[in-house]
Amino acid sequence: MKNFYKKLLLVIVLICFSNHGFGQSNEIKIRFIGNCGLYMTDGQTNFYIDFPYKSGAHNYMEYDKSEIDSIKENSIFIFTHKHSDHYSEKLLKKLTGQKFDPSNVEKLETLNKLVPDFNIKAFRTTHKVFGISFKHYSYLISWHGKNIYISGDTENADTFGLQKDIDWAFVPVWLMIDAKQKELNLSEISKMYAIYHIGPNDRITLESDQPQMILLDKQGEIISIPY
Ligand SMILES: [Zn+2]
Repeated sequence: MKNFYKKLLLVIVLICFSNHGFGQSNEIKIRFIGNCGLYMTDGQTNFYIDFPYKSGAHNYMEYDKSEIDSIKENSIFIFTHKHSDHYSEKLLKKLTGQKFDPSNVEKLETLNKLVPDFNIKAFRTTHKVFGISFKHYSYLISWHGKNIYISGDTENADTFGLQKDIDWAFVPVWLMIDAKQKELNLSEISKMYAIYHIGPNDRITLESDQPQMILLDKQGEIISIPY
């Protein structure tokens, strides 16, 4: 009897491997690290968005040191802005790969030639702290025919509201509140929403009449986008 279960287990493990394991998977995998930090890969190219940041900065999410150790070599790092809950110069210095932030955002175009089936558009968006404007960009990534919108910290839905046919939008809750006040047609803008940058005191509940939405409140959560 024991052997039977062992075999059964082995079969289940093999099935799992054949589905999700090796070779061409034809999916973009996005792993939520913390705050606006995302790891995004198609199995060939590795992106980190708003990561590495300073763990626990501004009272936002901490992360395990293993996150830094497991960063893939020669990755592409893209930042919406340089606040410490999104960006760490100190950690970045130790990493190889290409790095993009608002100071060299015009160089992002080079990725469109370098990465197969990839296009990125940068939008200058507002992020004011105590009334002072901070250089900030939101990004629209088209990869393998899928549109992924990275909002970052921008405070209003003005740029976001001009988008449509997004597959996955990564947005903070305050942007959703602004979008709602402006009566934007959310389901026309994006099929799926991931609410990120959730703070320790945020209590967010999803309304059932909303388009498809998930809360990124669990670090390590994986979003799969088949293409
Ligand atoms: Zn932030």
